[in-house]
Amino acid sequence: MPEPTKKIRPIVPFLRLENDGREGTLVGRRCKNCGAVYFGARVACAKCTEPGPFEEIPLSRRGTLWTYSIVHQSFPGIPTPYVAAIVDLPEGISVRCNLVDVEPDPKKIRFGMPVEMITRKVREDKDGNDVIAFFFRPVPETERSATEGGA
Ligand SMILES: [Zn+2]
Repeated sequence: MPEPTKKIRPIVPFLRLENDGREGTLVGRRCKNCGAVYFGARVACAKCTEPGPFEEIPLSRRGTLWTYSIVHQSFPGIPTPYVAAIVDLPEGISVRCNLVDVEPDPKKIRFGMPVEMITRKVREDKDGNDVIAFFFRPVPETERSATEGGA
């Protein structure tokens, strides 16, 4: 009897998973006409109004924290407080996410701080597959020199 193979499923269609979901890459769609980048499918480019063509590109795992809010109340079963954030990626788009591995304390969180993407299993779906979500966390202090002061 073959082992039932457990599958992994990204929580959003623009997350590509590798290494059994332990690593992942966000992907964007770039307008070949003007270079604008978006999440998800588009009928036409909002910037140049051309209908594309669009090409899929991998997005950087690192970005900077643009803004955040500390959420104290949420749906039942969602632990609070947590940090809802918007991260700017070097490709020129922003991604909504949760910031993890940081205290939900404004003293610990700085606008413009370097952050990096990680993936984690958040639950299992009805078929027993692991559902993998992406989060951002502060880049460890020891690794910051490469991104601080960058573009
Ligand atoms: Zn365009």
